[in-house]
Amino acid sequence: MSDDATSTGTHPAENRTFPPSSAFVQNANARPSLYSEAARDRLGFWKSRAASLSWHKTPTETLDWSDPPFAKWFADGELNAAYNCVDRHVESGHGDQVALLAEYEDGSDAAFTYAQVKDEISRMANVLEGFGVTTGDRVAIYLPMIPEAVFAMLACARIGAPHSVVFGGFSADALRSRIEDAEAKVVITADGQFRRGKALPLKDAVDAALSGGAESVTNVLVVRRTGGDVAWTEGRDVWWHEARESASSDHEPVWVEAEHPLFILYTSGTTGKPKGIVHTTGGYLTQASYTHRDVFDLKPDTDVYWCTADVGWVTGHTYIVYGPMANRATQVIYEGTPDTPHQGRWWEIVQKYGVSIFYSSPTAIRTAMKWGDDIPAKFDLSSLRLLGSVGESINPEAWLWYRRVIGGDRCPIVDTWWQTETGAIMISPLPGITDAKPGSAQVPLPGISAEVVGDDGEPIENEKTGYLVLTEPWPSMLRTIWGDPERFKETYWSRFPGKYFAGDGAKRDEDGDIWLLGRVDDVMNVSGHRLSTTEIESALVSHDWVAEAAVVGADDETTGQAVVAFVILREGTQGDVEAAGGEEEAAKILRAHVGTEIGPIAKPKKVLLVTELPKTRSGKIMRRLLRDVAEHRTIGDTQTLADSSVMDLIQKGLEDKK
Ligand code: ATP
Ligand code: MG
Repeated sequence: MSDDATSTGTHPAENRTFPPSSAFVQNANARPSLYSEAARDRLGFWKSRAASLSWHKTPTETLDWSDPPFAKWFADGELNAAYNCVDRHVESGHGDQVALLAEYEDGSDAAFTYAQVKDEISRMANVLEGFGVTTGDRVAIYLPMIPEAVFAMLACARIGAPHSVVFGGFSADALRSRIEDAEAKVVITADGQFRRGKALPLKDAVDAALSGGAESVTNVLVVRRTGGDVAWTEGRDVWWHEARESASSDHEPVWVEAEHPLFILYTSGTTGKPKGIVHTTGGYLTQASYTHRDVFDLKPDTDVYWCTADVGWVTGHTYIVYGPMANRATQVIYEGTPDTPHQGRWWEIVQKYGVSIFYSSPTAIRTAMKWGDDIPAKFDLSSLRLLGSVGESINPEAWLWYRRVIGGDRCPIVDTWWQTETGAIMISPLPGITDAKPGSAQVPLPGISAEVVGDDGEPIENEKTGYLVLTEPWPSMLRTIWGDPERFKETYWSRFPGKYFAGDGAKRDEDGDIWLLGRVDDVMNVSGHRLSTTEIESALVSHDWVAEAAVVGADDETTGQAVVAFVILREGTQGDVEAAGGEEEAAKILRAHVGTEIGPIAKPKKVLLVTELPKTRSGKIMRRLLRDVAEHRTIGDTQTLADSSVMDLIQKGLEDKK
């Protein structure tokens, strides 16, 4: 991608920076000296991060990279992740501190202290052991966003049984393929889940998944949530609340080696078939807790933290369960959707609990932006002091909106780049240190080595687009793809030998800050120019009318590919569009806007106004499906699509306009 410049440099928002307030600078957990410390002695730096965990046996080794790309971190150390996330806080006198503030969709709530969490996970660990689960056995977890999901994960960690959490919105087929791939022994699920005020079945999907295969499963542990009737397989199915009663709340955590697998998690499937990513215990927990403490500036005695992700995604693993709990956070976990029963639901929760640190995704922010400023304005958001974003590039316009409308112009924003594979945050500003730049993830964290390289693997600068690579191993890196070490090598380590290839396009600006430009698979080639999806989408979103945009390159006889844009307008802009002369005229205006923001080459050939975009269940735009539409093909695999009717809606909408 280094062949030519597609640098924008013209987007007005790109040039603004937001230095941290002096109060933040003084009190931030992260000190600027971290960068020099890590640069001087990277492994020594990680060794001292690992020392903040409680080890049963303190490691003397740091990194073993003698058989790349298979890394071992802290290999001679022993620890237990659940002990680190729960027991040690109880032992240090914080048993009465609230760990989880569970907010249910209907507005009811429950709080669990660290001592109560210890009790719950110990019981669940005893129940699992009663099923014959031992260290190394896999357990599938298929639950809604209720505290039991956290308990289940930590119960597995307690006995060293790797969990494989499958998002509760996935189908029986998706569940079965993940259970079979991991050969799970037990499935932990619920009778049902609440979604937009309705009780939906969940255990039915487990029954369906198990009836068609998944023979490794001997028991199903069922949490009662919705209270509806469920089919029951005697001898296999066990109610959680019944087993809990007779289970002891004493349980000795199993000390495992640092390299013992903690979990398997399948990627979101934005670009293709999900991969079973394997994470181990010591290195993962080290980086999870360090990044959570420093990137989110967690003050465990005063902060109320809330990450809106689902535990079915890596963000929920690292920044709901392992990072925050290792750091003794008090946090909100919310069962429902952002708009049930009203579009201000999230902001109501921030107000209710006095949330001070809020971590969410660009897709959620753009949706809130689409709904309008007046909705968050109804709630008191003054408790917030830091905001985070993850999942996709955040368009500068959405960043500015987030800062102004949600953050009251006072909260630093951390735009955190990382992946299921990296296990924890890799590139992000540090609050109190970095002057934030809207739309850029900016700098590798202390201890992390990232580069932007060209086709030849050599670093490139000066705003040229290239590939993001990680040049040194890091503690929370994936160790392999479950059952497929060859695919692990091939997918991540073969494109640039010796370097980890992330699959994302990127550039460095003149300050050396890193900008993520979209997935390499999505990059467009128009008349020999490589164009970034992110930059064109950000240009579209910078127009007042536009809430969200997705662009794809569609085959074109003359230019190789042509840019086709799918655009969602903000609510309340219909009048402006009419006044401009209707949809066709509006499309012309938006094309011209991209032309002035980026340059004529980036102008979309077509701008299509739509009401929805296809997204994964984790909220990421699935551009490959839009490419199918733009190229008039039958739509490809939609298994990971959140709402399968979206593609029909888009196609029908486009038909009607013909
Ligand atoms: P699959 O690999 O199966 O296609 P996925 O890549 O969507 O799925 P995840 O591991 O959940 O699965 O997502 C990681 C990807 O999300 C990154 O590679 C990147 O494309 C994108 N991403 C995450 N955070 C950011 C960010 N702050 N800025 C830009 N992109 C981001
Ligand atoms: Mg990926």
